[in-house]
Amino acid sequence: MADVVDCVVIGAGVVGLAVARRLALAGREVMVLEAQDAIGTGTSSRNSEVIHAGIYYPEGSLKARLCVQGKELLYAYCAERGIDHRRCGKLIVATSEAQRGELQNIARHAAANGVDDLVLLDRAQARQLEPALECVAALHSPSTGIVDSHGLMLALQGDLEHAGGMVIFNAPLVHAQCGAEVDGVSGILLRTEDGTELLARTVVNAAGLWAPDLAGRFEGLDAQHVPKAYYAKGNYFVLSGRAPFTHLIYPVPEAAGLGVHLTLDLGGQAKFGPDVQWVEHADDLLVDPARGDVFYAAVRSYWPALQDGQLQTGYAGIRPKISGPGQPSADFCIQDAGVHGVPGLVNLFGIESPGLTSCLAIADEVAGRLA
Ligand SMILES: Cc1cc2nc3c(=O)[nH]c(=O)nc-3n(C[C@H](O)[C@H](O)[C@H](O)COP(=O)(O)OP(=O)(O)OC[C@H]3O[C@@H](n4cnc5c(N)ncnc54)[C@H](O)[C@@H]3O)c2cc1C
Repeated sequence: MADVVDCVVIGAGVVGLAVARRLALAGREVMVLEAQDAIGTGTSSRNSEVIHAGIYYPEGSLKARLCVQGKELLYAYCAERGIDHRRCGKLIVATSEAQRGELQNIARHAAANGVDDLVLLDRAQARQLEPALECVAALHSPSTGIVDSHGLMLALQGDLEHAGGMVIFNAPLVHAQCGAEVDGVSGILLRTEDGTELLARTVVNAAGLWAPDLAGRFEGLDAQHVPKAYYAKGNYFVLSGRAPFTHLIYPVPEAAGLGVHLTLDLGGQAKFGPDVQWVEHADDLLVDPARGDVFYAAVRSYWPALQDGQLQTGYAGIRPKISGPGQPSADFCIQDAGVHGVPGLVNLFGIESPGLTSCLAIADEVAGRLA
């Protein structure tokens, strides 16, 4: 006989944990089912750990709104819980006269998203902040920062457990039946790989790269609501030696990504990336050292002092895309009963960047839709 649980969240990445914490703090009984034996082993530990300002996303999109809200919530949460972070700021650099006008467009667009603290710098002002930087002009974003993503996830898990929730590890969900009934209670009947069955009134699918595949296994959910998954790998190359910059450095963005940019971790290590490589499988995480050649050329456009041999193969993460190569980048897709008609089910699809920055705002959004 299946046990009855109020809320089940699938996936203990940063988004699943934030949603689970939020529901538990609202007084609900919450269980997180995680396929692996630890929190945050997926995309949440394979990203840039940047707290994004919310500059580039289309005006009115969920990404724009939840990033700007999420950034403020995250800075406050980090301060309250002592999570390691730094509001280091970032520079978006124009390396040619043709790109100079682009900076003004970016600043206008950011202001429409509610990011009104960007400052346009000329070459001399930019080099005063970062003497090693080569550019014709730059935009300074003071509210961009970096965060210890694992520390963040541990704090979210701690809050969840303190509020009575729990994470069950090694518990991959393999099947779900919508509109089931147990002991007169109706909900979604969940089955994990070992055959355990649970009836949940509320289910949040936060399975990241696997969310569309998992939703496809929900009997009673119309397949027209399950988007096709695409995987865009982002490879990183790590700089050997001292970081030449104290701000994050981004070129003017490209079509599918933000260009080969420099980010720093809290230990001061600099890395370049992620690039964009469309792949077939969600577990294709090896970095091809040959991709480094493109990195050298891209990085030297704003940091000519980069020496041959200074870039080492780093790691890769895969963006959980729901739009394919050549298509405009899709917004976050948060589907509730109003969309698919299954009471109590929320599917989170396409939670790529800025998902880390937005996690607390996504949690509020999901809780609001379930209320
Ligand atoms: C290269 C790269 C760089 C990025 N940089 C940034 C950045 O700097 N700033 C930012 O804000 N965002 C960034 N992001 C985005 C951010 O990392 C993601 O939005 C965020 O980590 C998504 O978290 P998640 O919890 O949705 O997914 P995940 O972290 O992937 O978690 C999903 C979890 O679900 C589990 N799972 C899967 N299937 C099942 C199942 N059937 N049963 C049970 N559990 C299951 C998985 O094991 C996993 O633990 C970046 C992403 C990438 C790829």
